[in-house]
Formats: sequence, C-alpha cells, structure tokens
Amino acid sequence: MPDTARRIVLASRPVGEPKPSDLRLEEFAVPQPGAGQILLRTKWLSLDPYMRGRMSDAQSYAKSVDVGGVMEGGVVAEVVASNVGDFRPGDIVLAPSGWQTHSLSDGKGLRKLDPRGAPVQTALGILGMPGLTAYTGLLDIGQPKAGETVVVAAASGAVGSAVGQIAKLKGARAVGIAGGADKCKYVREELGFDDCVDHRAADVGDRIKAACPKGIDVYFENVGGPLFETVLPLLNTFARVPVCGLIAQYNMTALPEGPNKVPQLFRNVLTKRLSIRGFIVFDFHDRFDAFERDMSQWIKDKKVKYREDVVEGLENAPQAFIGLLKGKNFGKLLVRVSP
Ligand code: NDP
Repeated sequence: MPDTARRIVLASRPVGEPKPSDLRLEEFAVPQPGAGQILLRTKWLSLDPYMRGRMSDAQSYAKSVDVGGVMEGGVVAEVVASNVGDFRPGDIVLAPSGWQTHSLSDGKGLRKLDPRGAPVQTALGILGMPGLTAYTGLLDIGQPKAGETVVVAAASGAVGSAVGQIAKLKGARAVGIAGGADKCKYVREELGFDDCVDHRAADVGDRIKAACPKGIDVYFENVGGPLFETVLPLLNTFARVPVCGLIAQYNMTALPEGPNKVPQLFRNVLTKRLSIRGFIVFDFHDRFDAFERDMSQWIKDKKVKYREDVVEGLENAPQAFIGLLKGKNFGKLLVRVSP
C-alpha cells in the first residue's frame, strides 16, 4: 500500500462558477487506524450538484465545508484495516468520506455493500442517493397517475433518468428536457421516454408545449431558472411540483433582472390549486427499504436503465465537478479513485 494519500480541499469559496483554483489537491500520510477505527481506501467518489452548496457559506439545510477542509462527498471504499468488530479488511462499504483516497472511520454511517449483487458504484447512483431522490420525489410528492403527463429536466442525469422511467412504469406519459441532441436521443430511445426536448433550442417553450398536448400534471423540478417560467403556464389544475433541485441557479450571484414574477406564480398556485413542495432526500430515509426492493427488481427486469459517466483519478474531480454544473456530464458522474 502506498504511504502517501491524496485529498481535495476547498481552497476558496467560489463566486459564481467554481474555478479550478477554488479546489486544491494535497498529499498527506496515509493515516493509521487507532482503537475503534477503520482505515478506508476510496474506490469510487460520487460527484453531485449539492456540493456547490457546500462550497458556499450561504445559509442552507446543511453545514458548509470550511475553507481548507476536505470536500464532502459519498464514496464506495474498501476496508484496508479495521479495529471495529463488524468490519474486516476487504469489506466494501458506502461511506461519507469525501474527496480523498484514504480516510478513517469509527464505523458509524457506513453501509456494507455486497459486491456479488449490483456493481458496487450503483450505491452512489441508481441504487443510492440519486435513485432514492427520484423514487420518493416522484412517488411520494408527484404521485403520478396512469395517463397523466410527467415532465422532468436534466433527464439524462442520475435523478431525471430514473424519474421518467418510474413515471412510465406507473403508466404516465414521460417527457424529458435535456441539453443537446445526443442526450435527447438517449432519453427517448434508450430510456423509453415518450419525448425529450432540447432546452438549448430557441423555441424550447413551443417544443415543450407540443410534447405535452394534455398539459403537465407533474413537473419534477430539477433545474429552476427560466425553464420553470416556460413550464408554469402549461401546468394543469391540481398539478404537483416536487422541487428537487435548482441547478441552473447554483452559480448565480444576483437575481435576474426583469419584472417581479412572484405575483404571477402565486396567481397560478391559487387558481390552478398547484402543490409545490421542496424536499431533501434525507426527509425520506425511512423509504429506503421499499426503494431498494423496487429499484433492484426494476433493474433486474431491465425496466430501469442507468448510465454512468466515469472520470479516472481523484486529480480530475475538480474539472469534472465544474463541468457537471454546465451539463458536461452524460449520466451519473463518478470518479474512479482506485481500481
Ligand atoms: P445530473 O446527473 O442530472 O447532472 C446535472 C445536469 O443538470 C447536467 O448534466 C445538465 O443536464 C443539467 N444542468 C446543468 N446546468 C443546467 C442549467 N443551467 N440549466 C438546465 N440544466 C442544467 O445531476 P443529478 O441527477 O445528480 O441532480 C439533478 C438535480 O437534482 C440537481 O438540481 C440536484 O441538485 C438535485 N438533487 C436534489 C436532491 C434532493 O435531495 N433534493 C438529491 C439529489 C439531487 P443537461 O445537459 O441535460 O441540461
């Protein structure tokens, strides 16, 4: 085992789009596990949009990463050495270890993975946090019924791809919105959505309207920004809007100019009796067992497909993360940190 470990720390708080210099690669000595400790070696690091929020000191639902601190993140890791009874060298675990090659754990918050089941990195994607987000946001809040229309943006990504496929399983019409022709083709042809609209097209509003001839019953909000304004007039009476993410706004430094649209929004909420509910995936932690059972079966039956976008090496994580906020990823973004 090498005696040098590597980690990526927050060098400075980004203003607007993160720059490579906002993140710094450091070397450190591989730590030795003491009594009650486990040494983990990271195999896979998950890169997720929420990490932009952790780089900021604006008040949010979770604590920011300190400047100089290791970037937060979920990983799949191998136990290298253990002084905790339940864990043995060679065990594969899901851990909140962050952007680093090695870490110590006391065993709390670790979940053992079975490498004989699904590929272990799916615990960071379709069978993990993004999958649970799609499952609960859509089924518990969106509550799609057969024949209804469900629209989701970032439709080729970790969450959106699962939302549309689950909507189809429930008998709804699934319409995706994605950036570019390749992603839209994949969403339609591989994932089986009924339609997919390129949000970069000049006439995106007309295209979404044409793709939803009966209006929209569930808008699974993944991006915010101008897309929501396009969708709002298409929402049907009693439409549900699970507000999952606002990625188009994460790098924003000021509110967009223009008229105040809040009165228009509230007029729609009232007259159409809209339900708009924000959620964070951990609100639904008690739904994990049902999710895992259903999603594993759907994957086995090839009713749900997933795509991974794999970046090699921890040192490439910063560029990949910056790209995620601009739609450069195509599928669940993962970093292979060690073989
Ligand atoms: P994805 O794998 O979908 O990757 C992000 C995608 O967002 C990009 O590929 C891009 O897709 C799209 N995107 C980026 N910038 C913009 C923009 N300015 N306008 C429109 N689309 C943009 O990420 P996830 O599936 O992991 O996350 C999707 C959303 O879900 C995010 O908003 C995230 O914060 C949220 N989320 C929320 C959780 C919760 O607990 N509430 C938990 C997990 C995720 P494209 O090129 O197609 O536009």
